[in-house]
Amino acid sequence: MTELLVVGSVAYDDVETPFGRREDLLGGSATYFSVSASRFKPPRLVGVVGKDFNPADKAMLKSHGVDLAGLSVDDSGETFRWGGVYAKNMNDRTTTYTHLNVFANFSPQLPKAYRDSSFVFLGNIAPELQLNVLDQISAPRFVALDTMNFWIDSKLDVLKKAVSRVDGLVINDEEGCLLTYKPTALAVGRALQEMGPRTVVLKRGEHGALLLHGDDIFYVPAYPLESVVDPTGAGDTFAGGFVGYLARCNELTADNLRRAMLCGSIMASFCVEGFGLDRLRGVTNDDVMKRYNKFVALTQCPKLTL
Ligand code: AMP
Repeated sequence: MTELLVVGSVAYDDVETPFGRREDLLGGSATYFSVSASRFKPPRLVGVVGKDFNPADKAMLKSHGVDLAGLSVDDSGETFRWGGVYAKNMNDRTTTYTHLNVFANFSPQLPKAYRDSSFVFLGNIAPELQLNVLDQISAPRFVALDTMNFWIDSKLDVLKKAVSRVDGLVINDEEGCLLTYKPTALAVGRALQEMGPRTVVLKRGEHGALLLHGDDIFYVPAYPLESVVDPTGAGDTFAGGFVGYLARCNELTADNLRRAMLCGSIMASFCVEGFGLDRLRGVTNDDVMKRYNKFVALTQCPKLTL
């Protein structure tokens, strides 16, 4: 049976955007990934929270079908906390604080039952922890990894080792540039493929996302929205839609990868429409289908004759 696993942060966020300020929002890479992926394939979540973790948040994740047997509670401290303030353009973000709390001692231990997971997303955590997770999984079909500039600057060698062992990268294009020093998105993608993964997704925020899968290239725009309320978690939400849809299909065909790109973009578009998980958590299959069909109409062109 296909099973999907995510490893990453579970957090409380304080977020300020031109639309207002919200405190104690449930966030973290594994959380956004899980809620998004659950629309397609509810995942197993491996992470850690502290003694302050709200039972209502656990209940919300459970209600989305997320398997929380791998979520450990460390009573010695508080849950990871992160604060961010967005500029008027919604693209520039300043991190106001990062309190690792119990996340500082996080060493992912997979419950035995999780070792057969066939689709895996290694969220943005220390690359040695990503390698540690890889060592605990018996025979995965598709492992994708995300990372950030902090790890590229501080642990490049270990990160490269982790990248060489995965099938897919789902990263921001800035991070792709930092890893490869190439001038265009396509050149960055090709250079990343040379580092190991057959599949590379470069997330480009409001400019969409580029997929390279073997020789296939596909580009998906960001779903056009009138307004964006809070961009936090959009990248992890994209990854949740992308990997979640692939896990649901269990077949890595070029068509499924293209559909997965649209699923990622659609889920990210819902994410940014509300603070935290306010909008994303309520998304239905019908909501996804409507945006999928609009997306297809939006990107179709009639045949050209000259
Ligand atoms: P994104 O907007 O995709 O960068 O994701 C933001 C989410 O990542 C927030 O919910 C944060 O709690 C979480 N986050 C921020 N910094 C880190 C970090 N250093 N490690 C893990 N998760 C983080």
